[in-house]
Amino acid sequence: MWVLGQHDEHYRKARNSVLNLIGNTPLVKINKVIPEDVSPEIEIYAKLESFNPGGSVKDRPALSMFLTALKEGTIQKGKVVIDATSGNTGIALAMVGAALGIPVELAMPANVSEERKKIIKAYGAKVYLTDPLEGTDGAILYVRELVEKDPERYVYLDQYNNPANWKAHFYSTGIEVWNQTEGRVTHFVAGIGTGGTIMGTGRRLKVYNQNIQVVGVQPAYPFHGIEGLKHIESSIKPGIFDENFLDRTIFVETEDAYEWARKLAREEAIFVGQSSGAALWACIMLARELTERGEKAVIVTVFPDGGEKYLTTALFE
Ligand code: PMP
Repeated sequence: MWVLGQHDEHYRKARNSVLNLIGNTPLVKINKVIPEDVSPEIEIYAKLESFNPGGSVKDRPALSMFLTALKEGTIQKGKVVIDATSGNTGIALAMVGAALGIPVELAMPANVSEERKKIIKAYGAKVYLTDPLEGTDGAILYVRELVEKDPERYVYLDQYNNPANWKAHFYSTGIEVWNQTEGRVTHFVAGIGTGGTIMGTGRRLKVYNQNIQVVGVQPAYPFHGIEGLKHIESSIKPGIFDENFLDRTIFVETEDAYEWARKLAREEAIFVGQSSGAALWACIMLARELTERGEKAVIVTVFPDGGEKYLTTALFE
């Protein structure tokens, strides 16, 4: 007999809006790709954030930032919501803006994948492309300039410094991880872009049990191909990110991130982007260390988005 997935509970009732489908993503055990030198007493699970209606983890903070700005009264008739993004936040903000009927403009480095730009435009948002060599920092500086020139027109959500970003995870992702593992989680591993996922989920998990280890994942070098992640030391530091909160950071090379994302599709039937590959590789390095020390563990990570948006990039060539 066909066994329904656990997420079906979530979809069974009709919803009034796609916004009500954000969050409550499935948690899936990673099995076949785990190397043999990892102890069977170490379990690795991933939250599949591609199940959000906008296709990524960023639906959570996008909704949270919009709702907070609406509550505080900064979004009013005639205003335009603006932000800098490497793509997924743009898609999420464009989707939430379309759902709420609020115009959205976004700045992003010109080298983000074509799919991202097209999806954003499909939702009706306006896109500004900035110098790819400057990465997301170039997009941030561009938005700051636009807002300075016309402060009356714009509401700058500023995902890098907006507490509503990490709080979205404090009030959703963190609670979900705890409940879905029935409190068994011992390590939480997540890539750092704005730091919203790791700070919000990590803080919530430490409220439940302060022994849970919170592990950040960063690209090993300033120039890298792991879309969505940031090499913090060489970038404008996100205001919501506090490195001292983390128990440790694991650095990942682009090639490993790509290789593990490809393996996930082929061997595990989980089709995801390169930042998911980076997260998994960090989990495996961690699991090897724990194996050597003879420890048991329940490691939970986040797969931030699906692979579709990277079909025209080197990831799936
Ligand atoms: N991976 C991808 C693909 C992303 O788009 C993002 C968001 N920039 C992240 C990881 C990192 O998430 P966060 O901003 O919450 O640190």
